[in-house]
Amino acid sequence: MVCLTGSSIAQNRYSEKLDTVLPVRGFCISAPQPAVLPEFIKFISEELATRKVNVLILRVDYNYQYKSHPELSDSIALSEKDVKKLVDVCRKYNIKIIPQVNLLGHQSWAGTVGNLLRVFPEFDETPNVKMPEKYVWPNADGLYCKSYCPLHPDVHDVVFTLIDEICDVFETDAFHAGMDEVFYIGQKECPRCSGRDPSELFAGEVRTIRDHLAGDGRKLWIWGDRLIDGKTTGLGEWEASYNNTFRAVDMIPRDVVICDWHYERPDQTPVYFAMKGLNVVTCPWRMPDNAVLQVQDMIKFREHSTQEMKERFLGIVQTVWSGAGQFLDSFYGRRKEEGKNTPVNCFKALYGEIMKLDK
Ligand SMILES: [Zn+2]
Repeated sequence: MVCLTGSSIAQNRYSEKLDTVLPVRGFCISAPQPAVLPEFIKFISEELATRKVNVLILRVDYNYQYKSHPELSDSIALSEKDVKKLVDVCRKYNIKIIPQVNLLGHQSWAGTVGNLLRVFPEFDETPNVKMPEKYVWPNADGLYCKSYCPLHPDVHDVVFTLIDEICDVFETDAFHAGMDEVFYIGQKECPRCSGRDPSELFAGEVRTIRDHLAGDGRKLWIWGDRLIDGKTTGLGEWEASYNNTFRAVDMIPRDVVICDWHYERPDQTPVYFAMKGLNVVTCPWRMPDNAVLQVQDMIKFREHSTQEMKERFLGIVQTVWSGAGQFLDSFYGRRKEEGKNTPVNCFKALYGEIMKLDK
């Protein structure tokens, strides 16, 4: 099952022991802006490779000069040549790149609609919800982020073209579709989705994307929050679901990799996913103490589980939610951050703990 994460990882001659104890050692961040690329490449060589990171999830979205849909690209975006520099450095250090384009949810942010719905407004699940001039949460529309309609007949032609192009240019066999924090799903305003079961809609979209990727021998990774019952677990409506999507956990294909993010506590939810037959990675963000516990838990889950379950506990992925430039400013001390709970400190503590495993 380790081969799920790619042959390059299994072949990493520097980390054979680590690969057995903790197969996936990841780092997730926004893809850098072109101006930040040289320093980001240096960071990969000097800070990720040395810590034996072997998976780099890059949130690309529209920060790429798509040839298939140039109208969807950001005005400043990575070129193919830029991407090949990332591919080259990661290949050199046996780091697998997993590009992410947010699908289904996260089609707007605060008061701004994202590129997909700006160019294709007909894909909007809630065209009746107008973007506010000044965004506040909570609001009368329950607008966190817009979603696309998973049942729109034309939406997959567009997003599959993007998936194919981004996976091709990054030369990868895995794709991250996001799919977190989907608040708008099965809305009564949507003529196609209204009245349908949100769990079936969510699972249907996961399966549709998964099947498309599988046709090219590629794996799907997603965030796990929509698959957890937020009320029963007390995990709430962000890191778990309050909108009846969680039964999808029993409906999605078993080879989807779940990125199980918990930032405030080291919740034991990886066990839930593994018991459902799903592969799982734990994702901390900014609390170093929790991240260390999450590494220790992951090791324990692998040690104390049945043969059937243990290989589903794939590993751990540090997530960073600022831009790459801002993170590098903090990492290299150009930007002052208060307190102990920062992504930089979390990353250092997490990988400090992981490096102990290699001794
Ligand atoms: Zn719909």
